[in-house]
Amino acid sequence: MTLQAPYDPDNIFARILRGEVPSVKVWEDDHILAFMDVFPQSEGHVLIVSKTSTARTLLEIEPEALARLTAAVQRTARAVEQALSPEGFQIMQFNGEAGGQTVFHLHFHIVPRWADRPMKGHGHAPMADAAELRALADRIAAALE
Ligand code: 5GP
Repeated sequence: MTLQAPYDPDNIFARILRGEVPSVKVWEDDHILAFMDVFPQSEGHVLIVSKTSTARTLLEIEPEALARLTAAVQRTARAVEQALSPEGFQIMQFNGEAGGQTVFHLHFHIVPRWADRPMKGHGHAPMADAAELRALADRIAAALE
């Protein structure tokens, strides 16, 4: 998938946003959905997407939607820090297949990090147990401000 391509309305995140595919939600409002990555690279790996923008990459998103998205990333990262007490975290955002992107609905990753726990590779992590993801999502949601 090149950087310049039309938005596919049947990409997996669009289907999650329409409720056609289940997801473990952390929080949502009219503009944003935060949900657990089902192939987490570390414990507490959260994805943040815009509900209103069909931008595929950072190049395409409208400035107002980007502002809401980045504010949501910060809000969620603060809750992850409160809930899970990581020693660090990574914010990741991939653009284009050559840039590591696999789902072409713009999203940010929050990946909590601990010094003694190696992070699993992007695209190489096993599927998580849904109940474990739900428990993590509940802890993060409880820490939201
Ligand atoms: P990208 O490679 O596009 O930056 O990230 C896509 C992310 O979506 C990956 O981390 C992958 O694990 C995650 N992912 C792929 N399919 C699903 C799914 O059906 N549900 C959830 N919750 N995450 C998914």
